[in-house]
Amino acid sequence: MTNPPIDPIREDLVMSLVSFIGPKPNLLGIDETNPPMRLEVGQPVLDFNQMDTIRHIDYYTGGKFKSFEIDITYPVAWGRQAIEARLASLCAQAEDAVRSGYNILIVSDRKVDADHVAIPALLALSGIHQHLVGKGLRTSAGLVVETGSAREVHHFALLAGYGAEAIHPCVAMETIFHADAYIPEEYRGEKGVKNYVKAIGKGLMKVMSKMGISTYMSYTGAQIFEAVGLAKSMVDKYFTGTTSNVEGIGVFEVAEESIRHHLAAFGDDPVLSKALEAGGEYAFRVRGEEHMWTPDAIAKLQHSTRTNSFQTFKDYARIINDQSKRHMTLRGLFEFRIDPAKSIPIEEVEPAKEIVRRFATGAMSLGSISTEAHTTLAIAMNRIGGKSNTGEGGEDPQRYAPIKAGETLASRLGRDRVERDIELQEGDSLRSRIKQVASGRFGVTAEYLNSADQIQIKMAQGAKPGEGGQLPGHKVSEYIAELRFSVPGVGLISPPPHHDIYSIEDLAQLIHDLKNGNPRASISVKLVSEDGVGTVAAGVSKAKADHVTIAGHDGGSGASPWSSIKHAGTPWELGLAETQQTLVLNKLRGRIAVQVDGQMKTGRDVAIGAILGADEFGFATAPLVVTGCIMMRKCHLNTCPVGVATQDPELRKKFKGQPEHVVNFFFFIAEEVREIMASLGIRKLGELIGRTDLLDMKKGIEHWKAKGLDFSRIFQMPHMPPEVAIFHSEKQDHGLEKALDHRLIELAQPALQRGEKVTIEMPIRNVNRTVGTMLSSEVARKYGNSGLADDTIHVRFAGSAGQSFGAFLAKGITLDLLGEANDYVGKGLSGGHICVQPSPKFQGNPRDNIIVGNTVMYGAIAGEAYFRGVAGERFCVRNSGALAVVEGVGDHGCEYMTGGTVVVLGTTGRNFAAGMSGGIAYVLDEDGSFNTLCNPSMVQIEPVLIEAEQEAKVSRDLWHMGQADEAILRGFIERHARYTNSARAKEILDKWAGYRAKFVKVFPTEYRRALGEMAAKRRKLAA
Ligand code: SF4
Repeated sequence: MTNPPIDPIREDLVMSLVSFIGPKPNLLGIDETNPPMRLEVGQPVLDFNQMDTIRHIDYYTGGKFKSFEIDITYPVAWGRQAIEARLASLCAQAEDAVRSGYNILIVSDRKVDADHVAIPALLALSGIHQHLVGKGLRTSAGLVVETGSAREVHHFALLAGYGAEAIHPCVAMETIFHADAYIPEEYRGEKGVKNYVKAIGKGLMKVMSKMGISTYMSYTGAQIFEAVGLAKSMVDKYFTGTTSNVEGIGVFEVAEESIRHHLAAFGDDPVLSKALEAGGEYAFRVRGEEHMWTPDAIAKLQHSTRTNSFQTFKDYARIINDQSKRHMTLRGLFEFRIDPAKSIPIEEVEPAKEIVRRFATGAMSLGSISTEAHTTLAIAMNRIGGKSNTGEGGEDPQRYAPIKAGETLASRLGRDRVERDIELQEGDSLRSRIKQVASGRFGVTAEYLNSADQIQIKMAQGAKPGEGGQLPGHKVSEYIAELRFSVPGVGLISPPPHHDIYSIEDLAQLIHDLKNGNPRASISVKLVSEDGVGTVAAGVSKAKADHVTIAGHDGGSGASPWSSIKHAGTPWELGLAETQQTLVLNKLRGRIAVQVDGQMKTGRDVAIGAILGADEFGFATAPLVVTGCIMMRKCHLNTCPVGVATQDPELRKKFKGQPEHVVNFFFFIAEEVREIMASLGIRKLGELIGRTDLLDMKKGIEHWKAKGLDFSRIFQMPHMPPEVAIFHSEKQDHGLEKALDHRLIELAQPALQRGEKVTIEMPIRNVNRTVGTMLSSEVARKYGNSGLADDTIHVRFAGSAGQSFGAFLAKGITLDLLGEANDYVGKGLSGGHICVQPSPKFQGNPRDNIIVGNTVMYGAIAGEAYFRGVAGERFCVRNSGALAVVEGVGDHGCEYMTGGTVVVLGTTGRNFAAGMSGGIAYVLDEDGSFNTLCNPSMVQIEPVLIEAEQEAKVSRDLWHMGQADEAILRGFIERHARYTNSARAKEILDKWAGYRAKFVKVFPTEYRRALGEMAAKRRKLAA
């Protein structure tokens, strides 16, 4: 597995944009007395003055550094053929300069003019970089790029990835500096340039963090890219080591394109004389870039599904499928190999109702889309036997039971929760069969897991690999907050996966935990299509996942940040083909189902997906369009005009979607698939999976840039014996029979059957993983989230517990451990109680010793935990409602916490409370150093007042849980003393007055605001 994505905002203490320019020291020469000097810059984007300094660095450093400028332009009259020779001369020039003692090379295109065209800076830079590497000279000099072509974050990331230690984007900066009427005054001139540098820096951090890289220095020259559409010969020469799977244009076509741009820029086209090109990369523009979703396609799709007209749907499909001119997707350039002799009548093809079972809707949470839209998709998918996906926002338990005659959406969920009612049929279901859990995300309780047919772990998603979602506070209504166990108005930030999934072993553990949480559900892992995804998918299959989703680069709703929509991930055609080939070669394909997802719009897309190896197919944007979305891309603003992606009650009234329309859409898709299958002579969709012999490259492609493409690697089928499965046909062995919980369930029968109190005693060893979870699953299945009365099942363990002790522990169960526990204790705690105290034989001081591992109480929802000792790193990350008392914690404690209470009776590590938007932490700060360890960006540190003082000074509206801090804190410490026999707690209670004053309260600003708003609302209602 590659590095998991990290969070560059909340964990900026590990991020750095510092770049060293110049010769590199010998990594192994630790005792070198006189290592070469290097220039340090705080970040790699140079402004005018810094660039000028580099240009005259000789003068500023007394000759210690010498810079040499390499001009990458050449006379346009030489034409495209000249580029190869020019690149060769640039490389020779660079080599000569380094050998003659220059230690900074400036790769510059500033001499571009009407007669001189620039070689693309990336090509020139990478060519020089690779040449110097090949000659063993790269570490003797630094590379700085001065170019007019770098504008967006991605351009900088590419230059960095191919060796640029610093970049001066001259045209972008000149434009901002001299901008007049277009830009407000405060953003022009030096201030504008400063903002631009800052924005690019933040963007670079985001890009680096997606790949789990935290420093610019590591990113420089790391080449974390895959080329799509470049000839291998060119890549091998100028971008050595980069993957390129579909061939494409060579260096002369690149020159041709540069010359065309050049001529347009310096030509006399009247349209371009006063204005730039229309652009339209991100949103549809007339005369701009082509987009798949044109207004015409949207109108046709909506019309066809509303009127149930397959003919109109075919018009829509024609617009999408006909890419002979638009060239928007790789699959648009494929063609089916139809042998008319083998075609069969359509009646012989399996019926559409069988095919639609393989369809699923994408993971869009209730919160990002409205209740009406979310339930419409669920009803439709349940009607056709497909699967809808909750997204990561939890689900209302009211939706679980089947619909009875006469019920409507409002009568089931509550009239105050539905703005536009939807008629329901008897036997309908509002339950999403796929429950997404991401990692430690919202509303993941034992009951939620038990309502799933499939549980999906989101490692990444199409448009936003590695980015956690963020639901802004204004979208967190009371209902959403209730489902996510949070506070209305408090923003919810999702952590990226690195907190609990740092390796394939961690992922295997999470899969095991979820399988214990619901043994009847299949476990899915969502990956994003990228180079190497096949290897990751093989790892996922070995880690016992039952299902893997390969998401293409173009997924993601309009809520994705614009900087993330492009350039991340690859088309699913590439990732899916690689996954299929790797799984088949390793004989792992049979035991894992493969789903493909990402801008699936037509039956043709589905047929190609099946041929490249998918068993199932995910659709997100298209069904949303069917329910009314008009691709306004306002999803993040809560102003969606058609009531799809908004929580605004007035806008939700405008929602026009109907489950019937969505059902029509999926049946149309299936019908189109059937037509294709009939022409190919295939009777069942299962027989189409992996049949890459049925695909070919489209003949007669006209576009000059498409000519070099070669899809033979994608269409390759591994030659394996016939018994090796090429589609999903076997089951994973999860090894659940070894679980300690079988014995616990047996002994707990009186409690499970009749709610009687049961006490169990048993030894435990570290091979006993995920203890208590299957038992919780039984409780949740029978008693729902409210569980049993506290402490109904009390289990006393002695020994060393394995990973995920008490994960998703349901209410009514207490796990009492004498000993110690590994990582993930109390993950997703769902109301249960956990106490851990050292064995009586332990001689050390619990205050100084780790008793539970890392990532404890991750994503806890409710319940209590008491640890007599220190916890590792990432304690209570994403806690949304549980109480925990502990005697010390490592780094990143309470990160992303949105609710609950944490009491730390000792020291904390760094970055405490980063991204914490709710709940309260009380920390004993004996030496006064806590303020240096706490991340103050979202919280304030306050004293814990005595009750009378709090009464006098602080409005009751702002009291946590409506109680005084002193009372809360003291009460929890008393419980800690009682449950764990903690000497530390007893000492604090004995000298309470002195210790109370040493406690600090960590109070999130968002939580404070939300408490105030809720109180005002209550008063208004009462008035
Ligand atoms: S109409 Fe616009 S805001 Fe609404 S869901 Fe579609 S893209 Fe998002």
